[in-house]
Amino acid sequence: MKEKIRVRFAPSPTGYLHIGGVRTALYNYLYARKMGGEFLLRIEDTDRERSTQESLDQILEAMEWLGLEWDGELTYQSQRLDLYRTLAEELVSRGKAYYCDCTKEELDIRKKELESRGVFVGYDGRCRERGLKKGDASHMVIRLKVDNGEDLSYTDLIRGEINFDSKEIDDFILIRSDGFPTYNFAVVVDDHAMGITHVLRGDDHIINTPKQIAIYRALGYETPGFGHFSMILGSDKSRLSKRHGATSVSEYRHNGYLPSALLNYLAKLGWGHGDTELFTKEELIRAFSLEGVNKAPAVFSPEKLLWVNQEHIKMLSYDMIAPYLKPFLEKKGIDPASRSREWFSHALETLRGRVKTLEEMAEKLLYYFFPPEEWAEKDVAKAMKKSSPELVEDYAAALEKVDDFSLQHLEEHMRAYCEERDLNMGSLAQPLRLAVTGSTVSPGIHDVLALLGKNETLARVRAFLSRL
Ligand code: GLU
Repeated sequence: MKEKIRVRFAPSPTGYLHIGGVRTALYNYLYARKMGGEFLLRIEDTDRERSTQESLDQILEAMEWLGLEWDGELTYQSQRLDLYRTLAEELVSRGKAYYCDCTKEELDIRKKELESRGVFVGYDGRCRERGLKKGDASHMVIRLKVDNGEDLSYTDLIRGEINFDSKEIDDFILIRSDGFPTYNFAVVVDDHAMGITHVLRGDDHIINTPKQIAIYRALGYETPGFGHFSMILGSDKSRLSKRHGATSVSEYRHNGYLPSALLNYLAKLGWGHGDTELFTKEELIRAFSLEGVNKAPAVFSPEKLLWVNQEHIKMLSYDMIAPYLKPFLEKKGIDPASRSREWFSHALETLRGRVKTLEEMAEKLLYYFFPPEEWAEKDVAKAMKKSSPELVEDYAAALEKVDDFSLQHLEEHMRAYCEERDLNMGSLAQPLRLAVTGSTVSPGIHDVLALLGKNETLARVRAFLSRL
């Protein structure tokens, strides 16, 4: 039977979830879902100084908002310290690792001396054969005995052959003097314990991979597949950072981006699939493959992301947009429960193609809820001809008698009304638009009237006429 694929995303809660992290999580997620495997989430919180609860909360919130559901329980490395220590001690007893009591000061002095002779490659192996035992000194670390001459090359699932020689690696630390594991040791122990079959992560970890392979071998574990995604660069080709614009998920969320758009854009950033640019999450799952992931770094474009967001606003159903739109409505003082689902769905139809973000959408919905407070002089001059006030007034009187304020009926009604009087529709629609929206641009006038309803339409028209 073929082995079930298990991948993981392993963020360190030392900062917010940034764009690069999301893409790593997403590729793991897509691969798992595509292959019918599992996507696990592990919190790498062994750096006690830099890990914070705030970062952790932000990461989990972002994962949920993005809809990157993980399988099974969350794993926290900080809850597995005993396991790391036990395994490291086992390595010591099997002669694969050793205790070391060299102090930082001693190491610094020897490092300088070795550097002056041009032979420094890291720890000099002084405690390798000393046979120190647990408790021999108050401050001890455990180091891995790295066999000199061992080939630590591997075939990267994305980049192909990567060559490493153990001569480039010193006897590095597995357990620090405070009893906490180093990143490399904890990752290997956990990836094995969690049954991870493919380690897929950013290319900043390529350099850790030979060390991890050395640990896999010392522990007698089979190595998983390794694949490293290329970096995301800013427009000036340097590593993506704050300078290039927003890099945190929460910023995009608060600026009115849809999670599906962010996922779509990031998936395509570094993964090719013909000329298709727009994908829903389900379509991404169907189309994704590791073979399609590019080796070359990708350049982040905020403009392209904004375009993708606009396209998602155009293509998604109201029900898919509604939960994400809700906070933006509330921020603008609009109660999402004040109108029916059908009403909102119609209102959204009138704005598709006119807005790029949910923030803009909420902004443009405002005139359906709040009457204009003023009418700019230049708009009045533009939309109102001499005969306009009378035209609007007469039409309002006709509307008084209309009970069916549905879009279709309003369209028919206005057409017939204009035909009977030999009126150009625009000469009525433009002043009417200004009257009810306070603006000379808006969605179709019949949509606006239908959405406002009879009472509100007439109240606004009257308020407008009395101000003229
Ligand atoms: N915790 C590491 C990071 O945030 C990820 C380690 C890994 O994927 O192996 O960069």
